[in-house]
Amino acid sequence: MLYCSTRNHALSLSAAEAIVQGISEEGGLFVPQSFPEISSEELKSLAEKSYTERAVVVLSKFLTDFTQEEIKECVEKAYSAQKFSSSRIAPVAPVGERYLLELWHGPTCAFKDMALQLLPLILKKSAEKVLPNKQVAILVATSGDTGKAALEGFRDVSGTQVFVFYPADGVSSMQKLQMVTQRGKNVHVCAIHGNFDDAQREVKSIFTSRKVIEDLSARNVVFSSANSINWGRLAPQIVYYFSAYCDLLQAGAIQNGDPINVAVPTGNFGNILAAYYAKKMHLPIQKLICASNSNNVLTEFIQTGKYNRNRPFYATISPSMDILISSNLERLLYDLSGRDDAYIAGLYQQLERDGICSVDDRLRAKIQDEFYGGYCDDEQTKRVIKEVFEKEHYLCDTHTAVAIHVCDQYRRETKDSAPCVVASTANAYKFPSSVLSALGEEPEGGDFEQIERLARHTKTVPPAPLLALKDSQVRFSQVIDREHMKEYILQSFAEE
Ligand SMILES: *Cc1c(COP(=O)(O)O)cnc(C)c1O
Repeated sequence: MLYCSTRNHALSLSAAEAIVQGISEEGGLFVPQSFPEISSEELKSLAEKSYTERAVVVLSKFLTDFTQEEIKECVEKAYSAQKFSSSRIAPVAPVGERYLLELWHGPTCAFKDMALQLLPLILKKSAEKVLPNKQVAILVATSGDTGKAALEGFRDVSGTQVFVFYPADGVSSMQKLQMVTQRGKNVHVCAIHGNFDDAQREVKSIFTSRKVIEDLSARNVVFSSANSINWGRLAPQIVYYFSAYCDLLQAGAIQNGDPINVAVPTGNFGNILAAYYAKKMHLPIQKLICASNSNNVLTEFIQTGKYNRNRPFYATISPSMDILISSNLERLLYDLSGRDDAYIAGLYQQLERDGICSVDDRLRAKIQDEFYGGYCDDEQTKRVIKEVFEKEHYLCDTHTAVAIHVCDQYRRETKDSAPCVVASTANAYKFPSSVLSALGEEPEGGDFEQIERLARHTKTVPPAPLLALKDSQVRFSQVIDREHMKEYILQSFAEE
């Protein structure tokens, strides 16, 4: 399996090369040159397998420059009992008429773990193939969740160093605590004065700074990236859609070949794109339901074909979806345009210049064939949390609630009654204040008081990794100006 770029069809890279490089030089994203299929018989045999066995089968089709043993080793290490609180890794829970695919049993209690537990191991193996004997430095600018998930994933993976920069006043207190108490020999966490965009911009400029690249190269170090446009983060996400289908088969909820729908709370379009790719591989998915919060740029795009990021930005109670530029959408448009790299390059040039672009009618019709777009605001989100808890005794987080709302709306509007799998992307205890207030409780006190109150009120058990933070020591308290991020990185290597 070889990879090309969405803006340059002529490229031909191995999976290891695409994963180490992260993004293509001309700004496009790496995509497989064709999509492997999983036949109905193969699907049936997958149903009898464990999550890790399913992952090896699906990933082997994309990582053809890896041996089966290499993939198995990475997968078993990533989705181990030490790291995941459920032995099923991504279990499916029936809730009313829907099936919730719980993607938050990993160490940080959110779905980013599904990819970021595996990516570091795959990236290390890729680097060994492509750039033997080099150390890899990973730079992450984070507004919260990604930083912690990257730290946990790269923690003590030999041959790698991970640097996470977060805005000093731009993350929640729980998110901050998760990062500054991080254990591991190869992790570096630093706050910067400024907001997330400042951190992000500086990281991008360091990535491409000739001076820094040369300084690091002299120390035998290369940069790579763990952000959500890396193919190595997308591929592991395809697995859990197959796994969910298999679980429904095993439970007798569907027969092999029956169509399902999938609803996903969407930000950067990575998670729902993985579902689209699963469908391309012949998983019987009928409709892909793209759920947004008040930052509903994707809802408008799916309904009208116009992408317009020149709009107000809302800080919502589902913060991981507060995104106006959904990077992975480019991969979908590339695919649905018939892999027209010149068209995509032009479209994104226009979007970067004007903040707005429109796709042609044919492409819009294709998007609408595959996707349904809807959104919901904070008030509706809270109402869903309360309703689902009162009716079904199931506690869901704010992001998942957005997807449940749009899934229900789709079913009402279209009368499409196929079983619907809803991606549940975070544990409710990650957002105790919003969830408490949704349930009509006062969100008083600090994080741990809120967690206790939520546990008492709902008679549910908070996840151990969050409770453990209460007694863990702060390791990283440095706050620097963003001009000093370069030195911070270089110093860390000088100290070794
Ligand atoms: C990152 C994230 C999302 C959005 O996923 P994308 O792949 O960026 O669309 C949704 N919910 C939670 C909890 C997340 O952390």
